[in-house]
Amino acid sequence: MVMTAHVKPLTDFTARDFRMLIDGAWTEGAGNVIERVAPGHGVTVSRYPAGTKADAGRAIAAARHAFDDGSWPRMTGAERSNILLKAADIIAARADDLAFLDCIESGKPISQAKGELAGAADIWRYAAALARDLHGESYNTLGQGTLGVVLREAIGVVSIITPWNFPFLIVSQKLPFALAAGCTAVVKPSELTSGSTLVLGEILIEAGVPAGVVNILTGTGPEVGSVMTTHPDVDMVSFTGSTGVGRLTMANAAQTLKKVSLELGGKNPQIVFPEADLDAFVDAAVFGAYFNAGECCNAGSRLILHRSIAGEVTARIAELSKKVKVGDPLDPATQVGAIITPQHLEKIGGYVDGAAKAGASVALGGAALDLGLGQFMAPTILSGVTPDMAVAREEVFGPVLSVLTFETTDEAVRIANAIDYGLSAGVWSRDFDTCLTIGRRVRAGTVWMNTFMDGASELPFGGYRQSGLGRELGRHAVEDYTETKTFNMHIGARTGWWMQR
Ligand code: NAD
Repeated sequence: MVMTAHVKPLTDFTARDFRMLIDGAWTEGAGNVIERVAPGHGVTVSRYPAGTKADAGRAIAAARHAFDDGSWPRMTGAERSNILLKAADIIAARADDLAFLDCIESGKPISQAKGELAGAADIWRYAAALARDLHGESYNTLGQGTLGVVLREAIGVVSIITPWNFPFLIVSQKLPFALAAGCTAVVKPSELTSGSTLVLGEILIEAGVPAGVVNILTGTGPEVGSVMTTHPDVDMVSFTGSTGVGRLTMANAAQTLKKVSLELGGKNPQIVFPEADLDAFVDAAVFGAYFNAGECCNAGSRLILHRSIAGEVTARIAELSKKVKVGDPLDPATQVGAIITPQHLEKIGGYVDGAAKAGASVALGGAALDLGLGQFMAPTILSGVTPDMAVAREEVFGPVLSVLTFETTDEAVRIANAIDYGLSAGVWSRDFDTCLTIGRRVRAGTVWMNTFMDGASELPFGGYRQSGLGRELGRHAVEDYTETKTFNMHIGARTGWWMQR
């Protein structure tokens, strides 16, 4: 049995009513209201406006005006940087409130939410530094009569669309870089977890971001998101979410040939060799599988273990998994919180049942947990999984670990690469050559060697294949929100072409 604790009801708590931010003004919009029921507590905790197509049009018009005629793109990098640094300070000062909102709206553990807020503040600081360093290139090597200069210009109005699993962290992987470049933005958080992104609007106003530069819409994808991805006044779409909606986003954006950046799903392998530090790996496997209840694009949901150690290692992972604390998201000791919606819990259960029918064994868990309130899933381990099973190929997005085995390095690489995703991968071996060989051959945007799910604002993140397009974080992140413009300049008297001058 895994460790569980019953959920305490939310007492002395009033649901918060939020408004959208359009052109510097808070508005209820023209539509209905979306009620968010806390996945861990079963009561309404937030209400947001259900934005309409007309609201989306107004927000895009405001961002367009702020870009075409406003001060933000025309400021110096240092001026933008100072405002972003101020925003980072306010984020840090309000971190507890933001973490609380992310915790109750998404069901993630409060201690984890606080860690995400600290990481987010660091990203805002890092992007602020890049705002001062954004520069182009010059070519003084093109002959006596020519000087070439390549400018970096803000791309324009950016639509930013984010998912529910890391509400504040993911908007922080996009917006500060877009702002650092001098862009203006229309932001749409998930309709399940919009609260902290709306508070970010307050923070940006306080930090000095001018009206219209950042507009925040709430509402559904088909209503609001579809306008944000098709409107001719939008220059770029930066999307994080499922591969299916990512595909639709790209198709929508293709109508007006917008630049698209996509951070999509993952089915990330961890390949483990017998000579690895197995104590460290077992710990990382448990963390990698159940962090954020497995509702994580980076989840290490697919273990590929050398056959000689598979039995022993699976048993050790199962033992450690029983010590993982599943419970009230607001309890500081909780490690695994609630599942985002009852429908999603059902989907996770369907994957487990499907794997069992296909011949996998349930080595641990396998069912929902009743903790009195909300919806929870037991940490689950499936052994005897083969590469053709759905659970080995598709994103389960729950605390479900699939164990596969290999004999040779070639076979391990083949299994790792035999899926449509390519977000991240892990390799565990004390042999440096083995780590580097696997690192080169695995088709993934990040390869962890003898560690898992570590990250830093400096390190780019993104996927190969159907895990996405483009990279976030790292020093190139800000360049993603720019166009290059070439100045080809002549020096001295002009002669040539067909007619002598
Ligand atoms: P989702 O694709 O259902 O929704 C993401 C966002 O898109 C939401 O804001 C939603 O309202 C919006 N949307 C939905 N339909 C739309 C439409 N027709 N037009 C425009 N926007 C639309 O994803 P989700 O369920 O919120 O998030 C989970 C998914 O996100 C998982 O697949 C996960 O792997 C992925 N994810 C990827 C990363 C990464 O960095 N690669 C990070 C986190 C989550």
